[in-house]
Amino acid sequence: MNPVYTAMGTTIFEAMSARARETGAINLGQGFADGRGPEPVLQAAANAILEKSNQYPPMPGLTELRQAVADHYARHQGLNLAAEEVIITSGATEALAAAILALVEPGDEVICFQPLYDAYVPLIERAGGVAKLVRLEPPHWRIDPAMLEAAVTSRTRHLILCNPLNPTATMSSAGELAAIADFCVAHNLTAICDEVWEHVTFDGARHLPLIGFPGMRERTVKIGSAGKIFALTGWKVGWMCAAPPIARVLAKAHQFLTFTTPPNLQWAVAEGLATQDAWVQEARHRFQAGRDRLKAGLEAAGLVTLPSAATYFMSIDLAASGIAMDDVSFCNRLIEEAGVVTIPVSAFYARDAVTNVVRFAFCKQDAVLDAAIGKIADWRRGLNG
Ligand code: GLN
Repeated sequence: MNPVYTAMGTTIFEAMSARARETGAINLGQGFADGRGPEPVLQAAANAILEKSNQYPPMPGLTELRQAVADHYARHQGLNLAAEEVIITSGATEALAAAILALVEPGDEVICFQPLYDAYVPLIERAGGVAKLVRLEPPHWRIDPAMLEAAVTSRTRHLILCNPLNPTATMSSAGELAAIADFCVAHNLTAICDEVWEHVTFDGARHLPLIGFPGMRERTVKIGSAGKIFALTGWKVGWMCAAPPIARVLAKAHQFLTFTTPPNLQWAVAEGLATQDAWVQEARHRFQAGRDRLKAGLEAAGLVTLPSAATYFMSIDLAASGIAMDDVSFCNRLIEEAGVVTIPVSAFYARDAVTNVVRFAFCKQDAVLDAAIGKIADWRRGLNG
């Protein structure tokens, strides 16, 4: 058996959701929203099952969806992608796997930033690559050019950037992105950009895609997710966008991972991208209100929160809150004693983990957030007593 897999545990998101299912605890762990998503998109999927083909769609995706993704990014991010530069995948996780398998050769070094999504390092290692981990520090988690220069070697070929960044809920500034772009150009690196949170941004902040920076158009794979745009995480429809010479190779990795993605969901996502901008905007406000509600509740319970500019997530700092526990112990006790599931941020580290930060999802109905806050506040009072 391959040691990459035998040595690893079940992903923290599944492990924590399984504990929520087993115990009945409120699940503020894995990031999935309450609510049904946009009705016209659900209806389009149902109609497509009954009225359109349920046979294999074209391997790189329905032309209509590839064009809808290109149009969406032209409208929202000023990008000039052609339909042929978009490859539809079964979720962003498949896109990450396909991009890493397609681009990373044995021995290649790939710069990644910790904390990082837990799939990156195993996928790089399975491809025979080496993850060069650059550590970001709370509370700002900023990337500075000196860190990049310290990580690069003659074997560095790629960089993976998650922006907005899960779990820190930060967004890279234009200055940071310009520095990353200059660095990629100077060292001839390709960038794999996990931008699944691009639409879940708050306080009027706008996402800037790295592929739009000078020199990046021909060396970037931009990954997006319909599950995040429409809060339909179970659909597993995502995509990779890249210039034709890269896109052609990405498609070959995709063809032997999943080959295609269910056609009814592709039709529905195309419909959603063309018609649901207002829903996406409204959802952004709803999630921002959830963030504010959770922040107020956790702070009233005596917990110190970290800023959240984007994503479904906000974190607390245990040490700053006067809680002398590591994140894993805190999360375990919160499940067992308070009945609330959260995510220990140490799970986002391949090594040298930060152990005093815990992530909460706020993409939930008010009543669910209030119930969780009430349980946490009671438990916290008990800790002091
Ligand atoms: N992105 C989700 C999160 O951070 C998890 C996705 C998954 O479980 N595959 O909660």
